Amino acid sequence: MTPTTLITGGAGFIGSHLCERLVDSGHEVLCVDNFYTGSKDNIRHLVGHKRFELIRHDVWLPLYVEVDRIYNLACPASPIHYQNDPVSTTKTSVLGAINMLGLAKRRRARILQASTSEVYGDPKLHPQPESYWGHVNPIGPRSCYDEGKRCAETLFFDYHRQNGVDIRVVRLFNTYGPRMHPRDGRVVSNFIVQALSGEPLTLYGDGSQSRSFCYVDDLVDGLVGMMDQDSEIGPMNLGNPVEFTIRQLAEEVLRLTGSKSPLEFRPLPQDDPVQRQPDISLARATLGWTPKVALEDGLKETIAYFRKTLAL
Ligand code: NAD
Ligand code: UDP
Repeated sequence: MTPTTLITGGAGFIGSHLCERLVDSGHEVLCVDNFYTGSKDNIRHLVGHKRFELIRHDVWLPLYVEVDRIYNLACPASPIHYQNDPVSTTKTSVLGAINMLGLAKRRRARILQASTSEVYGDPKLHPQPESYWGHVNPIGPRSCYDEGKRCAETLFFDYHRQNGVDIRVVRLFNTYGPRMHPRDGRVVSNFIVQALSGEPLTLYGDGSQSRSFCYVDDLVDGLVGMMDQDSEIGPMNLGNPVEFTIRQLAEEVLRLTGSKSPLEFRPLPQDDPVQRQPDISLARATLGWTPKVALEDGLKETIAYFRKTLAL
C-alpha cells in the first residue's frame, strides 16, 4: 500500500524538495506549514497533483490526521528568522515535537526529526561525531534555536524509551540550494544575491570561520535513506564533510557569477561558531550515504535559480 507521509515545514526550502522527491517516488504526501518562512511558491508546482495535499497549520497545535510516516521539519532555520521571535522559535521546536510525537504514538507512525549541527554549539571537538555532547550557550541569541532543537531531541528519545515510538533523528549541517529564501541572511543566499546585484559581499569577522556546505539533493537522499532503513534510530549527522572558510566561499561565488562586487567586513555575530564539519562515518556505514555534489556544481544551480527568480 502507498504510504501516506506527513511533512511539517513542507513549504520551506528543504521541505519542498522532500515533498517533490516523495511525490515522485509514489508516496501520498501531506504538506503542513504555517508559511512563517516557507512559501506557496516553493510547492506551487505540486498543488493539484493527485498524491499531494496541503494544510495550513501551526505545529504548536495538535493535528489529527491519518499518516504512516512523519518528517518533522517545521522550524525557522536561518539566524535572522529564528532570532526575530525567539520565544516562538523555542515553542515551535518543543511544542511541535510534542504534538508530532503524540501523532506518531497514536498512529504507530515512524517519525523523523530534522535536528541540527547547532546542538554542538561552538564545538570544541573537530570534526563533530554524534557522540559529542556539544558546547552550547543556553542564554545567548542563538539559544532559542539550539536549545529548542536539543529539547526536541530529548523528547524524541524519551517518547522512544517510554512509549516505543519509532523515531529517527538526523542532525543536518549547513544545506544550500534552489528555494533558499533570498533574504533569510544565510551566507550562501546572501553572497549570491549580493554578487548578482553588484552589492558588496558582507563577510562577518575576518571570514576565516569555516562551514561545510551540503547541496539540498544530497541532503534529501540522506533524509529518505534514514527514514527507509530499520537498524539505526540516530542521532545521525547529515552534511558535506568538505570544509570551506567563509572567505573561500565568497571568492568562489564571485568567480562563478563573474561579479565585481567588493568584500565588506562586518562584526562577527555573538556565539558564531568558529568551525563546523560533520563526521559522517555513521551515515556512510549505515546508509552507504555520502554527498555527491561538489560546491562548484551546487553553487552553479543555486546561482541559476536566483538569477531566474529575482530576474538578476
Ligand atoms: P525553512 O525556514 O525554509 O523551512 C522551515 C519551514 O517550517 C517553513 O516552511 C516554515 O514556514 C515552517 N514553519 C515554521 N514554523 C512553523 C510552525 N510553527 N508550524 C508550521 N510550520 C512552521 O528552513 P529549512 O532550511 O528548509 O529547514 C528545514 C528544517 O531543517 C528546520 O527544522 C531546520 O531547523 C533544519 N535544518 C536546516 C539546516 C539548513 O542548513 N537549511 C541546517 C540544520 C537544520
Ligand atoms: N556570514 C557572513 N556573511 C553573511 C552571512 C553569514 O560572513 O552575509 C557568516 C556567518 O557569520 C557564519 C557563516 O557565514 O559564520 C554561516 O552563516 P549562516 O547564517 O549561513 O549559518 P550558520 O551560522 O547557522 O552556520
